[in-house]
Amino acid sequence: MKDENCIFCRIAAGDIPSTTIYEDEFFIVIMDLSPATKGHALIIPKEHMADIFEMDEKTAGKLFKLAVRIAKAMKKALNCDGLNIVQNNGEIAGQTVRHFHLHLIPRYEGDGQNILWTPGEASDEERRMTAEAIREKM
Ligand code: 5GP
Ligand code: ZN
Repeated sequence: MKDENCIFCRIAAGDIPSTTIYEDEFFIVIMDLSPATKGHALIIPKEHMADIFEMDEKTAGKLFKLAVRIAKAMKKALNCDGLNIVQNNGEIAGQTVRHFHLHLIPRYEGDGQNILWTPGEASDEERRMTAEAIREKM
């Protein structure tokens, strides 16, 4: 369902132009307007869903298959040394556009980017309790 106020719905509908790598019935893959590195692309489901919490597993399966195809094409086309997949959900996690998107960020030696987190700590007990709490909700 297209949301007139959503920039990625409008891009998916072709109302706003974008540099498109690929498009099918379910997804559009576009170049990010402010790329972290050369080739930074976004896989966007055409159907509006704000974040991963609104995504169904069938769409998720198709999404990751496509991510694999695009990543391999990037490796061949751009000769990148690595690649980060980033996907932000919610403001606290850095999401600025509230329509689900998967970032594919090719990485190059000396590109100056830092997409990693600061390692933290958890006790064995805390890890075990947390794992159990999540498992119970699956
Ligand atoms: P987020 O912070 O929500 O994970 O990422 C949003 C991304 O969308 C950013 O990397 C930003 O550069 C990109 N972006 C925002 N508006 C547009 C747009 O109109 N066109 C394209 N191609 N990318 C956009
Ligand atoms: Zn949308």
